[in-house]
Amino acid sequence: MSEERSRNFIECEIDKDLKEGVYDTVHTRFPPEPNGYLHIGHAKSILLNYGLAKEYGGSFNLRFDDTNPTKEKSEFVESIKADVQWLGADYEDRLFFASDYFDRMYDAAVTLINKGLAYVSDLSADDIREYRGTLTEPGMDDPSRSRSVEENLKLFAEMKDGKYADGEKTLRAKIDMSSPNINMRDPIIYRVAHLTHQNTGDKWCIYPMYDFAHPLEDAFEGITHSICTLEFEDHRPLYNWVVENVGFENPPRQIEFAKLYLKDVVTGKRYIKKLVEQGIVDGWDDPRLVSIAGLRRRGYTPDSLRTFVELSGISKANSTAEMPLLEYCIREDLKIKDSRIMAILDPIKLVIDNYPADQTEMVEAVNNPDNPELGSRTVPFGRELYIEREDFMEEPPKKYYRLFPGNEVRLMNAYFVKCTGFEKDEQGVVTTVHCTYDPETKQGTDKEMPRKVKGTIHWGKCDSAVRFTARLYENIVDEEKGVYDENGDLNLNPNSCVIMKECYAEPALKGAKAYDSFQFVRNGFFCVDSKDSSDDDIVMNRIVSLKSSFKLPAAT
Ligand code: ATP
Ligand code: MG
Repeated sequence: MSEERSRNFIECEIDKDLKEGVYDTVHTRFPPEPNGYLHIGHAKSILLNYGLAKEYGGSFNLRFDDTNPTKEKSEFVESIKADVQWLGADYEDRLFFASDYFDRMYDAAVTLINKGLAYVSDLSADDIREYRGTLTEPGMDDPSRSRSVEENLKLFAEMKDGKYADGEKTLRAKIDMSSPNINMRDPIIYRVAHLTHQNTGDKWCIYPMYDFAHPLEDAFEGITHSICTLEFEDHRPLYNWVVENVGFENPPRQIEFAKLYLKDVVTGKRYIKKLVEQGIVDGWDDPRLVSIAGLRRRGYTPDSLRTFVELSGISKANSTAEMPLLEYCIREDLKIKDSRIMAILDPIKLVIDNYPADQTEMVEAVNNPDNPELGSRTVPFGRELYIEREDFMEEPPKKYYRLFPGNEVRLMNAYFVKCTGFEKDEQGVVTTVHCTYDPETKQGTDKEMPRKVKGTIHWGKCDSAVRFTARLYENIVDEEKGVYDENGDLNLNPNSCVIMKECYAEPALKGAKAYDSFQFVRNGFFCVDSKDSSDDDIVMNRIVSLKSSFKLPAAT
């Protein structure tokens, strides 16, 4: 696929930079703030940055942007590392923490002060906002703007040494209070905050602001192309100002692309946190969430996410991708990779009255007709089987070709059976269906079948079937009503997780381990739950059903 697609605009920019000799290598990074779990949007950024480094034979860094000590947690650092590795973005030993650069950032600020390009301000945060002006009016100069270099050096050192309370002083870049770009109106680059940092402890009571720290982190690491999302476009002049004035010889270049949005899907950290805290979902890796951990637990593969990112494209214009596209990608991937086995989600019994009660016959089944490498297996067959409740009807509508009294169907991989009767319990619910089989109709023999049947159903032999629990998922929010209600709360879908406890599969499911996946014929793709499954109670998450009306748009 990547051979055929046209080059995206970022590749075009990089080609140009290399051709003009601006850079002689490509060095990218993924810079998450460790304040939550990564989601599908981050996967796009990771795969884009990693993919570019690989494509150009360059390097890729994973860097934690841990400059903000209040929100960050080591739990998030570990989950992010696991997610990035799982996606296949190999950062090797190139793992960095922005907080390791605090000394160098401090020195960079001193460099700016010495150049007369930064000053210590006495204004409160409110006053600074007040002085900043608006889109139509220029800002006003800070009364401290003309402090001498010596005084600024002394005050900044005192800020570092803990002489001031939180908010009492800030360090501001001296740029242009009348710039049409408000980001350039003497932005704050350091603040006083008496906070313990998870990496540096109590060493610092001043912390750099994002717009100052981020370009420095990139420059320290020798990043060439700093790829970020569109909301930073207006910050680019400040990014450039920082790296130029601190004096880097071959500074990195920022390029923005549009964020990935998924239609009708909850991605906001704020909402997910609430769902987790209220116990509505089972943690950040609940299989209904589009966190990377959730998608993985659901049974998505790195390959399917890679294809999804490719197909959703890299662009400058905001757009939304649809969930059916993501589902298409996993279906296409597993269609080839997974074995197709028989499992019954809502069982009733089928008794073959003319089949010997004590006989077990092994029938041959191909694991995946589209992938001969997966080979074949044998499945036990006998007199008493489970079939899906919906594969029998007492009074069928037109065009129902499965079991009903008098009708004949094919039992997948086995024989033709003809329905002869059924039993109901006191409530009138069908419990058992009776039939007879025709020994001349065994599958897998080359001989021509004596007649044709229209329906084929799957089955499992009762005494050798593996019982398991199936979880059938839908969107956590009600798409019909819309994601949010009038109060801005989520419109939850009460059926987002349906649990079926009496499911039966053929013996091939026995011993399945976390993340193993199968196609259950006619029922969809399923994956062993990594948290709740055990040998005694295998729990299978439905990744996606088999059918969809979704069609890949024709290539343009
Ligand atoms: P969110 O606001 O969803 O919590 P974030 O931007 O705060 O995400 P960061 O940890 O700061 O999360 O982001 C790390 C990187 O991932 C940044 O380069 C950011 O631009 C990128 N990123 C975040 N969300 C998306 C998205 N939806 N699509 C593509 N890239 C994204
Ligand atoms: Mg962020």
